[in-house]
Amino acid sequence: MQRVFSGIQPSGIPTLGNYLGAIRNWVPMMDDHECIYCVVDLHAITQPFDPKTLARQTREMAAALIACGVTPDRCTLFVQSHVHAHARLAWLFNCVARLGWLNRMTQFKDKAGKDRENAGAGLYVYPNLMAADIHAYHATRVPVGEDQKQHLELANDIGEKFNHDYGVEFFPHIEPIIQGVAARVMSLRDGTRKMSKSDPSDQSRINLTDDADAIALKIRRAKTDAEPLPAELSGLEARPEARNLVGILAAITGSTPEAVLREHEGQGFGTFKGVLTEALVAHLGPIQAEMRRLLDDPAAVDAALRTGADKAAAIAEPIVQKAEELMGFLPRR
Ligand code: ATP
Ligand code: MG
Repeated sequence: MQRVFSGIQPSGIPTLGNYLGAIRNWVPMMDDHECIYCVVDLHAITQPFDPKTLARQTREMAAALIACGVTPDRCTLFVQSHVHAHARLAWLFNCVARLGWLNRMTQFKDKAGKDRENAGAGLYVYPNLMAADIHAYHATRVPVGEDQKQHLELANDIGEKFNHDYGVEFFPHIEPIIQGVAARVMSLRDGTRKMSKSDPSDQSRINLTDDADAIALKIRRAKTDAEPLPAELSGLEARPEARNLVGILAAITGSTPEAVLREHEGQGFGTFKGVLTEALVAHLGPIQAEMRRLLDDPAAVDAALRTGADKAAAIAEPIVQKAEELMGFLPRR
């Protein structure tokens, strides 16, 4: 059975992009893979964050995952900082990765913005920690949204260099699994930027916890154009915002963008947005109810995460110890 690793940052409320591009794909993988899913709080502190809310957001992210069907008895679900192997292996990888490799990472450029001198060093080495998250488990399959593809290539470069430098095939090759029509859900305000939970504008995204009114308002305000919907996908090429809304409806109804266009050809956005809102409200309602139920008993969520951390550490500890041994550290006896 292949081992899967994936993570999500508790850097805000999970968005529709996280759900369609990542979380939703985590669930069926549990049928035929050994799945390790992680709330990556060490990653969340690479950008401005509030220490007063980090713990709550971490627990809420875990509850959101469970509510989406990532049930802890069918996978290993835990919090990254609870398993020290991640930070230890990340340090080793800081010494394996080359500056030239990190300099190419587009997420750093996007997130650091213009004031790069003032970006945290953690944001720069973020991809090394992500490589450690995966390699600490010898995971070979990583379901992610398209934005993470470049980081996974870097994780493979790190694994290969480690294997080469220390003369053994220790870290396996990682395959990204980038699935479906919603592998890249775009911002509701700008069809050329991806939807992100850390975007300063709440209007740019649908949060999994948005109620029917909030969803209706955000979809109504979503940027579109005055043209009706075309019959063919090629008619949306220069219309990224329209393309995004069609993609979202296709993903949420288990359809394809082509089929959505066949059904809604000639419609203006007034009508189409109504249909999209209804579909979103119907789909997200049950998830929200389950999330509320779980958060009524925070101690139960925390207990599930503690069990998950024990299971995760049992896998990762020996792997990271072996990596240290291959690099020649004096073992602690
Ligand atoms: P942040 O803005 O803090 O980086 P994020 O919304 O990008 O938050 P992450 O925690 O970085 O979320 O990523 C979690 C998972 O969600 C990853 O697999 C990532 O590829 C996926 N993902 C993030 N945004 C999108 C999106 N807009 N469309 C599809 N998948 C996405
Ligand atoms: Mg991100």
